[in-house]
Amino acid sequence: MSELRIAIVGFGKIARDQHVPAIAATPGARLAAVASRNASLPGVPHFRSLADLLRDGPEIDAVALCMPPQVRRLDAATALAAGKHVMLEKPPGATVSELAPLVAAAKQAGVTLFATWHSRYASAVEPARRLLAGRKILRITITWKEDVRVWHPGQSWIFQPGGLGVFDPGINALSILTAVLPQPLFVTRADLDFPANRAAPIAAELDLSDLDGLPIQAAFDFRQTGPQSWDIRFDTDAGVVTMALGGRRLFDGDKLLVEAGDAEYQGLYRRFIELAADGRSDVDLAPQSLVADAFMLGRRRTVEAFED
Ligand code: NAP
Repeated sequence: MSELRIAIVGFGKIARDQHVPAIAATPGARLAAVASRNASLPGVPHFRSLADLLRDGPEIDAVALCMPPQVRRLDAATALAAGKHVMLEKPPGATVSELAPLVAAAKQAGVTLFATWHSRYASAVEPARRLLAGRKILRITITWKEDVRVWHPGQSWIFQPGGLGVFDPGINALSILTAVLPQPLFVTRADLDFPANRAAPIAAELDLSDLDGLPIQAAFDFRQTGPQSWDIRFDTDAGVVTMALGGRRLFDGDKLLVEAGDAEYQGLYRRFIELAADGRSDVDLAPQSLVADAFMLGRRRTVEAFED
């Protein structure tokens, strides 16, 4: 296949901000159509649903599913049944168990299912993994605090069941952590703050660990005004290693090792093309399982109602 003809399904903020420019900048990828109930892109064939696109649209090879997680599974199943490669935005779905049938369907159809974790493609992640592999990690502290009004304006789905609330960004930190650490992690405590008028948490504190008892603490908060934090601090036997800006900066003590711009989505599309070339899938559910376990184990507190 010389060029992957891709349709974006669910044309909202991330589709506009990241997928369109990343597809344009990635050799071997072409935006062939948009399927979205309301939104469209001038110059690109538009359909109101994936079903309409598959019936009436131009030939496509793949779809990038960018709608909220609660409504992603059905279109993923439809696309796989039609023999299309499927890229899932993160989180890959609203539950953990909905993914196994999709993995099986991709295998049966001989096409790719790619559950993306964009933060894993941030420039500091691989250097951090290599640096930390040579050290003994003593403690990890995640601080992921952002203003939901700034970053998710009008996205009511985020506080609905399956929208994950503050875990929508928090799962990015967990996707980085599960990529840089060599051992599997598990949740040992979770406190979840649910606004009185919402069905998903606005803040959460987690303790996690591994088989060696590594202490990991995570604080996620959607109510942060002023400076925003997307940081992971690793206390090691040879000093402090810090990843900042969601994995775009890496410090060894005070020394800046990596500082790079935002090329995560180009990395995702390069990987998607590579996988689709021979119909391989890439579905790692570790971050999703940790969030599911936080909901399972979490102590729920009701906090002040949240108004947009
Ligand atoms: P968004 O701005 O709300 O866009 C999602 C789009 O999906 C909507 O504009 C809507 O377009 C379509 N849609 C289809 N069914 C829908 C439904 N039942 N409810 C609401 N919208 C529906 O959300 P987003 O920020 O792009 O996020 C989408 C996914 O990308 C999420 O899983 C999110 O975690 C992930 N993501 C977001 C960001 C970010 O910074 N925003 C970053 C990385 C990943 P139509 O009305 O035209 O159908």
